[in-house]
Amino acid sequence: MNIVLLGAPGSGKGTQAARISEIYGIPHISTGDIFTENIKNQTSVGMLAKSYIDKGQLVPDEVTVRIVEERLSREDCAKGYLLDGFPRTIPQAEALDKVASIDAAVNLDIPLEKLMRRLTGRRGCPKCGGNFHIDFIGDVTGCPKCGEKLVTRADDNEETVSSRLKAYTEQTTPLIGYYESQGKLRTVQADGAIEDVLRSVLEVLKAL
Ligand code: AMP
Repeated sequence: MNIVLLGAPGSGKGTQAARISEIYGIPHISTGDIFTENIKNQTSVGMLAKSYIDKGQLVPDEVTVRIVEERLSREDCAKGYLLDGFPRTIPQAEALDKVASIDAAVNLDIPLEKLMRRLTGRRGCPKCGGNFHIDFIGDVTGCPKCGEKLVTRADDNEETVSSRLKAYTEQTTPLIGYYESQGKLRTVQADGAIEDVLRSVLEVLKAL
């Protein structure tokens, strides 16, 4: 099964994608994670991507499409995959349609006004990989699981989040109509507990 997970930044795509890929045994391909890895390794793609990511802008389509095409050509994608954060523009979706057959685009729907708080309150642990939110753990500095100092993603500050939400509204929301017209759109209400949203997504996937 080849699945696209759509949704605004902060809608919970990464969390849901990790769970779904585990349940279905298919790779979770996140363009955001690929860029983060490239930035860490200081590759040329990473350096270029960083200049856009830091401003809350989308990385150019040519670069993004190239890394996804390369990733999808690997053997582990033969039995299916879950795309998280790609496509984010109509040209990306069109490029994807040329190399892949997508079964469904699951849209995690959440009121936009909830997203600023969701994003600026995120904290991650660099040691154990745990992800938390200050609404649940309070404004603590140490990881609740392992005690390591928690970090905030560089692009989760208010100014950059505003740009990311603008990019989402202008460049990514047209994908909802794109997949709807192909009969592939499935919408799930994502403004709930992680387990409830996961249950809804799994129901949608089972019905395909
Ligand atoms: P994410 O972790 O999915 O929120 O992605 C972090 C940042 O990476 C985004 O704000 C974009 O700057 C960039 N990015 C991720 N995926 C894409 C994409 N499909 N197209 C363009 N830029 C992307």
